[in-house]
Order: sequence, then structure tokens, then C-alpha cells
Amino acid sequence: MKIAIIGGGASGLSCAIAAGRKTAGKNAEIVIYESKDRVGKKLLATGNGRCNMFNLYARTEDYSSPDFVRDILSRYDAEAVRLFFQSIGLYTRADEEGRAYPLSNQASGVLDALRLECEHLGVKILCESEITDIKKQGKAFVLSDGRAYDKVVLACGGKAVAKNFGGYELLKGTGHTVTKLMPALTKLTVKDNTFTKQLKGIRHKANLKLYIDGKKITEENGELLFADYGLSGIAVMQLSSFVARHFRVSKTLPVAECDFVPSMSFGELCQATERICGYNKDMKAENLLTGFMPKKLGEAVIKSVGVPLSAAVSQLGTKDIKSIASACKSFKFEISALRPFDDAQVTSGGADLRDFDSNTLESKKVKNLYCCGELLDIDGPCGGYNLLWAFACGLAVGENLIN
Ligand SMILES: Cc1cc2nc3c(=O)[nH]c(=O)nc-3n(C[C@H](O)[C@H](O)[C@H](O)COP(=O)(O)OP(=O)(O)OC[C@H]3O[C@@H](n4cnc5c(N)ncnc54)[C@H](O)[C@@H]3O)c2cc1C
Repeated sequence: MKIAIIGGGASGLSCAIAAGRKTAGKNAEIVIYESKDRVGKKLLATGNGRCNMFNLYARTEDYSSPDFVRDILSRYDAEAVRLFFQSIGLYTRADEEGRAYPLSNQASGVLDALRLECEHLGVKILCESEITDIKKQGKAFVLSDGRAYDKVVLACGGKAVAKNFGGYELLKGTGHTVTKLMPALTKLTVKDNTFTKQLKGIRHKANLKLYIDGKKITEENGELLFADYGLSGIAVMQLSSFVARHFRVSKTLPVAECDFVPSMSFGELCQATERICGYNKDMKAENLLTGFMPKKLGEAVIKSVGVPLSAAVSQLGTKDIKSIASACKSFKFEISALRPFDDAQVTSGGADLRDFDSNTLESKKVKNLYCCGELLDIDGPCGGYNLLWAFACGLAVGENLIN
């Protein structure tokens, strides 16, 4: 039995290990093809070099297609992935939000564990070996390097920060459909960047709500980072997945509503600012919000409602206070675009799920051809969800390649 795994990333390496263990002593050959000079390069960049490997609280509903991921994630959940890594000598620790990292806090440790286990199992790794074509000859698959295999696993990853041939052409070439591709877990460009541009580099913890066609879709609490093009930061990246799914089918502009003082209600904020105005009558309006947010952000909010920064706070009436508090609590940005794939962590879109069996990830169109990880039209939020999906797919396919 000859098995080719195209792509030496998270899903390809875990697939090779699971297949290697299953086929031990069975005269099987497992080959990983990797276009880069070494496997797992993207893994090294994950979690800011720490690799957020999975999330203990991941639920199927957190993913773009809960019904499709259910079969795999019910068998290969966070605990199964944790035990898999433990079996190859890699131990993890999770934070209070369920984000699991290697005990070493080094992504390189995760890659080393996977790579060494592949070596130990006799998996052949061919680097700088990009596959650009797959042909069917009878029952065999003949790859662009001329070698023939009984089974092929496509584990080529997505378009996010990928500069190689990728797997989409291989999917199309073997008769599969690729859905519209959009960057996800990325930054957002706003239609009018006057506000964000002047605040470039400023960070602030906020509550963000996403509205699409007037309907609230999701909300996030977390860091907001202003940029010349628009909005960045973890909370924004989480919203971006929903924006990507929307832009795949519609051109209407979503709205991000920011609450810069989420710990207070509108009424409490009005009262607090009124008290400050009454207490220090000589204070200039530019300082009114410094107790609630970074000074520059406070100034920009005050300017946005037409109050001069040089005005003495004693001159502000109830109407001014209410409009300042309202801008603090619900500052709206129209989202005009997602930042490009180079800025994204994952791809929204990919192999059409209707072409693959959700239990085995085998193609319904081409027997013995499988698809794993980000290449499938599945994406999850930030926090270990995408690597969990990639590892789970790899293990599921690898363990079931040979019965
Ligand atoms: C900066 C960054 C940080 C991230 N951090 C996290 C995180 O902390 N936690 C998390 O859950 N997710 C994170 N992600 C997402 C996560 O890395 C991916 O979802 C995951 O790596 C997907 O695994 P995969 O095996 O499908 O693809 P990949 O890991 O991308 O592997 C695919 C491999 O296939 C190779 N390849 C592609 N085409 C071919 C070809 N034709 N022939 C041969 N080889 C080919 C590629 O070079 C690549 O090595 C992050 C992503 C980025 C970009």
C-alpha cells in the first residue's frame, strides 16, 4: 500500500503519524510531499511562536459548518488531540479560556515532536517537492513527480500567508468544486478611515458588535487596535470570520459597533462625566474621557460629536454629555473589506463539503482521495480552533486509511 500525503503541515504530519502507526509492519509506504524546504513552517508562526494547539472548550457550533465537523470532532476532540500529543511526548497546558499551548511555550517543540515521530515510524518526507498535478491511471494516482500511489491525502492548507501552488488547483484538477475563497481571522478595512487613521497604533479593550443588514450577528470583548486602514486586534479578528462568510455571498457593508466603555451603562457614563464636569469646571473637553480610555481616543470621540477640544467642560450641556456618552458606547464603522490573505490566519472557503464524506473525509467523487484541514471549506475562531480541526482531520484520515 502506497500513500501520498500532499502537504507537511499540521494535518499532513498528524495524518502521516496516525497512518504510520496503523500500518506498522504491514509493508506500507507513506510519503509526505512538502513544497517548502522544511515541513511545518506555518506551525512555527502560530500563536505568536507559542502554538495555540487546540481549545478545550471548542464546540462544533463554533465552526463555519457545524454539521460537517460534528462527525470528526466527536471522535477527535481536544482531549483526543491532547492525548495524541502526549503519546508523542509533547505535554500541554491550557489557560482559563481553554487555549492549550505546549509546556515549553515553543511552537518549535510541537513541530519537533511531530517530525521526530514521523521519522521514528519511517514516514518518508520529501521537501522542496511541490505537487502540481494528480492523474488517475486505473486505480492508481500518478503525481506530477511520476510516482504512483494507491491513496492520496490532500493536506495542502489554505491561502492565508501561503505563497505556493496550494491545493485548490489539485482539487479542481481531480473534479472537485472549490467555493469562493476569502481571508478570515484578519483585520478589517473601514469605509471611512478618518477616525481610525488619527488613532493608528492605539490599543483599547472594547466590546464589539457586528451587524449585517441591520441584524446583530455576533459580539466580542477584547482588544481593539486602530490602524490607518481601519481596525485590528483579537476582537476584530474574531468578527472578521463572520464578515468573510458574508462577503462570500453579498456586497452589503457590515457595521462594527464599538463600545469603548463596556464596564458602564450609558446612564452610568453620563452620570460619571457630568460629575467630572461639575467637579473641575476649568477642565478642557480634551481631558474629559482620560479616565475611561487612552487620551487620543477620548479626544477623537469628543471631536466626532462636534465638541471643540478647547471648550471648558463647564460649557457642556446635558445634550453634549449625552452625545459624548453615546459615541463612547456605540461608535459605528462600516466595514468595506477584509485585509488581504497575507494578513489572514485562515481561509474562509475551500473544498466544497458536498464533495467529501464528513465521517472519513474521503471524496465522494474520487475513491481513495482524501482532503484534510484548512483546504476544506471550514474555518473556526481564533484560540486553537483551526489547529484542532487540522489535527483532528489528520488523525481521522490517517487512522482510517487502512482498515
Ligand atoms: C500567523 C498565523 C498564526 C496562526 N496561529 C494559530 C494558532 O495559534 N492556533 C490555531 O488553531 N491556528 C492558528 N493558525 C491557523 C493554522 O496555522 C492553520 O489553520 C493550520 O496550520 C492548517 O493546517 P493544514 O495542515 O491544513 O495546513 P498547513 O499547516 O498550512 O500545511 C499545509 C502544507 O502544505 C504545503 N503545500 C501546499 N501545497 C502544496 C503542494 N501542492 N505540494 C506540496 N506541498 C504543499 C504547504 O507548504 C504547507 O506546509 C495560524 C495561522 C497563521 C497564518
